Amino acid sequence: MIRFEQVSKRYPGNANALEALSFALAPAEMAFVTGHSGAGKSTLLKLIGLLERPSHGAVTVAGRNLAQMRQRGIAQHRRMIGMVFQDHHLLLDRSVQANVELPLVVAGIPAEERAKRARAALEKVGLGGMEQRLPVRLSTGEQQRVGIARAIVARPAVLLADEPTGNLDPQLAVEIMGLFAEFQAIGTTVLVATHDLVLIKRIRKRVLVLDHGRLVDDVPATEVAA
Ligand code: ADP
Ligand code: ADP
Repeated sequence: MIRFEQVSKRYPGNANALEALSFALAPAEMAFVTGHSGAGKSTLLKLIGLLERPSHGAVTVAGRNLAQMRQRGIAQHRRMIGMVFQDHHLLLDRSVQANVELPLVVAGIPAEERAKRARAALEKVGLGGMEQRLPVRLSTGEQQRVGIARAIVARPAVLLADEPTGNLDPQLAVEIMGLFAEFQAIGTTVLVATHDLVLIKRIRKRVLVLDHGRLVDDVPATEVAA
């Protein structure tokens, strides 16, 4: 589903953020990306989401080389990908429902269908009935769930999350990771950047370890020690 071949990324004026990175994720696979702050985790996710471009090498998603995509292909690609951020990026003055519907507005889905799908997405993350609330009135964990509902409302094939539990207490963090595992179980390819090793050991999925932009370890789920 996702393939990196000798991918390097250099930001202007910096050392390489990623260096000759190669790995592949199968459809419906879930993996963590971990490593120290500045190791390249965010950059890796941004390359998949087309928020950044590689300096060298090829990133392929669903068999398509991202470098060769034109405008239409890029729009299609973005619809295939759901992204979750640490600080949820919600519009605080818009209802929970309006926030979750955003990707569907962009995709041109009619209002009635949007409302239906937003309700279904909110049900899935355990927030059924919260449609008309404002995000400012929700707890941090609930806000993060709204962000996840928004990321999955258009049923993306790929779900990317950048430190999604960074602001949550350990119990909430485990619940949120459990949600990601549920999306994997229904066929979504899931990649989660986190430096939380305790959490990684509890969830037991494949772990890609970055160190200064290099892939230094790739641990299969079966070998993640408790
Ligand atoms: P992580 O997510 O593991 O903390 P990042 O991918 O954010 O790592 O960063 C990798 C390296 O690239 C760091 O040295 C960081 O400072 C640098 N970097 C990230 N984004 C930019 C940018 N937009 N411009 C310049 N340097 C950047
Ligand atoms: P995150 O890792 O969640 O993206 P950061 O605080 O690392 O958050 O980065 C925030 C923004 O600043 C990102 O868009 C990132 O690309 C950019 N950035 C990170 N490091 C640098 C850097 N050394 N120089 C310029 N921009 C950077």
